[in-house]
Amino acid sequence: MTSRAYVGLGANLGADLRATLTQAAQALAALPGSRLSALSSAWRSAPVDAGGPDFLNAVAALDTALAPIELLDALQAIELAHGRERPYRNAPRTLDLDLLLYGDLTLATPRLALPHPRLGERAFVLRPLLEIAPELAHLATGDAWRDQRIERRGAIATDL
Ligand code: ADP
Ligand code: MG
Repeated sequence: MTSRAYVGLGANLGADLRATLTQAAQALAALPGSRLSALSSAWRSAPVDAGGPDFLNAVAALDTALAPIELLDALQAIELAHGRERPYRNAPRTLDLDLLLYGDLTLATPRLALPHPRLGERAFVLRPLLEIAPELAHLATGDAWRDQRIERRGAIATDL
C-alpha cells in the first residue's frame, strides 16, 4: 500500500539552486518503495522570517510505501548529503526538505508535525503545491500569502 505524500523543496545557498532542486527531486524518485508522480515548477521567493538570498522552491508529489518517520529520515539524509547545516533557526540553507502532507494523516510530535504547521500561510509552499494539486486549495489559511513576493521560474528539468 502506498500513500501520497507532498514534499516541499527549498534552497537559497549555493552556486546553482536549480541544479540542487533537480538533484533533490531525483533523490526523491530513487527512494525505496517510492514514485515521484508530480513535480511543480521552480518558484523564486523572498525569505520569510529569515535573511539571506532569495529561495528557489518547488513541491513534489511522492507515492510512497515508506512510513512517515522513514520518509522524514530519508528527507533529512538527502539534506545532509547536500551539506545542510543548522547553525541557527531559519538560517540560510543549501537544501530544505519539508514533509508537507502524508495522506490525510494528522500528527503533532516534536519531530514530525502533519500537515506541516505553516503550510497554509506560505506562498512558497502554496503556489507550487496548488500548481500540482489544485484540489488542495482548502488548505490555505486566509489571504496574506497571496501578497507574498514570489514568481514562477519555469520547469525543473529531470530525466524522470
Ligand atoms: P524549518 O522549519 O525551517 O524547515 P528545519 O528544516 O531545520 O526547519 O526543521 C526543524 C525540525 O522540524 C526538524 O528537526 C524536524 O524534525 C521537525 N519537523 C516537524 N515536522 C516536520 C515536517 N512536517 N517536515 C519536516 N520537518 C519537520
Ligand atoms: Mg525543514
